[in-house]
Amino acid sequence: MRPPAERPDMSKALTALGERPDDMTLYVNILLLRKDKEVILVDAGFGPHQNPNWGWLADAMESIGIAFADVTHALLSHSHIDHIGGLASGGKILFPNAAVHVLREEVDFWRGKEPDFSKSHRTDDIQAMIRNVRGSFDTLQPNLVIHKDGDQILDGAITILAAPGHTDGHAIFRIKSGDQSLLHISDLAHNHVLMFEDPAWFIDFDHNPEIAIATRRKIFAEIAATREHVYGFHLPWPGLGVVIPNGRKGYQWVASSHRWDF
Ligand SMILES: [Zn+2]
Repeated sequence: MRPPAERPDMSKALTALGERPDDMTLYVNILLLRKDKEVILVDAGFGPHQNPNWGWLADAMESIGIAFADVTHALLSHSHIDHIGGLASGGKILFPNAAVHVLREEVDFWRGKEPDFSKSHRTDDIQAMIRNVRGSFDTLQPNLVIHKDGDQILDGAITILAAPGHTDGHAIFRIKSGDQSLLHISDLAHNHVLMFEDPAWFIDFDHNPEIAIATRRKIFAEIAATREHVYGFHLPWPGLGVVIPNGRKGYQWVASSHRWDF
C-alpha cells in the first residue's frame, strides 16, 4: 500500500488510526447469492493452484446445499489471480454451468497486443501474469458474457458498473432485492482504514493508481451520501458495512453487525 505524498509513513498512519501497524491482513470474501433458481457467485478467490486450502469453498457451499455445478452466473470484477484463480484452473472451468460476466475493457486489456503496465507499481512477473490471465480467458471463453458499463442481468437484480483504475475493466456490482440495495465494491478498497481515511492511499497492484484514486473518490462520495449497503471483497470478514463521511476529505468504514440464519 502506498500513501498520499504528504503522509509517507504507513506505520504512523495506522497507529494514529488505532490499528496495529504489523497487521495488514488482506481478506478474501466471496459472495454467493440466490435469486429464484439462479445461483450467483461474485468472484471466486484463489484457485487450487494457488491455495492449498482451496477446498474450503466447496465445503462452505456444500454446507448450504450448493454444488459448483449449481452456479448459474459468475461475476468477475477483474482478472487478478485472487479473483479469477478459482474460476478456471489447469485448463478447466470450475463452475461449468456458470455464465461468466465481465466488462469488455477487462478482456480487451489482457488480450491486447501489449497490456500497458507503465503506470503500475507492480514488481512481480508481469509477463507471467499476462500469460496466466490469457490462459484463463481462453479456458473460460465458452462461458464468457461480455458487458458494457451499466448492463443489467437477472431482470435488473444486478447492474455491472465500470470502476476503472485497479484494472482497466475493473467492475463493481449493484445488487437489488426489493427496495434493498447492496454495492459490491470489489477492489475499490484493500484496507478498511487507510483508503477510507484518505482515498489517495493506493496499492501497488493498481494498473493506474491515479485513475483508481479518482474512481474511489467518486464512488465513496456517492455511497457516503446514499448510505447504501456495501460489500468489500478485501475488507474484514464478512465485508459488510456502510461508508460515512469523516472530516473534510475522508470517509470511515462502519462494519455492519451481522448474523447467519440457517
Ligand atoms: Zn483483489
